[in-house]
Amino acid sequence: MPGEFSLIDQYFKNVGTTGQLSRLGIGDDAAVLDVPAGQQLVMSVDTLVAGVHFPETTSAADIAHKALAVNLSDLAAMGATPAWFLLSITLPEVDQAWLSEFSDGLKKIAGQYEIELIGGDTCRGPLSITVQVNGLVDKDKYVTRSGAKPGDLIVVSGEPGNAALGLAFLQKKISLPKEIEDLAVKAINRPIPRLCLSVFLQEYANAAIDLSDGLVGDLKHILDKSGVGAVIRQADLPVNNWIKQNNAYQYALSGGDDYELCLTIPEKHRDQIETWNQANPDCLLHEIGEITKSGYYLTTTDGSIDLTRQTGFQHFGD
Ligand code: ADP
Ligand code: MG
Repeated sequence: MPGEFSLIDQYFKNVGTTGQLSRLGIGDDAAVLDVPAGQQLVMSVDTLVAGVHFPETTSAADIAHKALAVNLSDLAAMGATPAWFLLSITLPEVDQAWLSEFSDGLKKIAGQYEIELIGGDTCRGPLSITVQVNGLVDKDKYVTRSGAKPGDLIVVSGEPGNAALGLAFLQKKISLPKEIEDLAVKAINRPIPRLCLSVFLQEYANAAIDLSDGLVGDLKHILDKSGVGAVIRQADLPVNNWIKQNNAYQYALSGGDDYELCLTIPEKHRDQIETWNQANPDCLLHEIGEITKSGYYLTTTDGSIDLTRQTGFQHFGD
């Protein structure tokens, strides 16, 4: 697009740093990387489309944060460490103020999680952002969806449901007390990729996934890939007080966009959950159920719900 080169120089050079050397970054036909000996490259790509993956009213800084955060979350779920990323951005127009805010937001999160922008593409059209991330992991230390075993504890980080609550609030479907509104809007606009858990995953998890589409559906991916079943206990879900008081567990069970991690760990490592929580009060882990041989159930105060038969997951507990 016209002015593309100055635009790239102005907004997309010097975004983020990494301890890893990139041989050749932005400015040539392609980037060149050295993968350190004894490590493997872990790659993932995700696209955010305006009006689909974020409300049209979302600020440029929030969009930048989210575009990278959702990709970093995939690296976290694999137990990987971020290194480099590519950015393909489609813009309706060259709006310098918007681009400047986007670039500042991107620099902030890329700096925070030590990942370097090494290339991309820029074109004109309806607003859409694609980020491709590259992480590193010690050889064969990555964690997959397929390793869950009967008897494993099912563990989630953070408070699932906050992001879906934030979206419902922004869409004016619900009203919330101020303190819940704040944490819910933050959860939808500023998801935290749980990269702090990478080493914990490598050490203790048999399987892991990040929660992008809702706990029930995402955990199902682990069950399908691992050939196992699960029981989750509604009362043990680490949800905020509003969800508890309003018995609105559907936000945590089927709401998306949390980017918390769901992992399964052998029971013998149960003590590690408490040890982790003592040292990491900003990323608490909670045991919410266990892996079984087969079947998929949610236990509530009213009994047991067969989750394999649920399609919409809309109204648990109602
Ligand atoms: P080509 O025509 O070979 O695709 P481009 O003109 O698209 O090259 O890009 C020139 C250089 O700028 C390349 O190194 C490319 O990776 C980089 N680049 C283009 N757009 C972006 C972007 N949005 N963010 C980061 N780097 C970009
Ligand atoms: Mg190009």
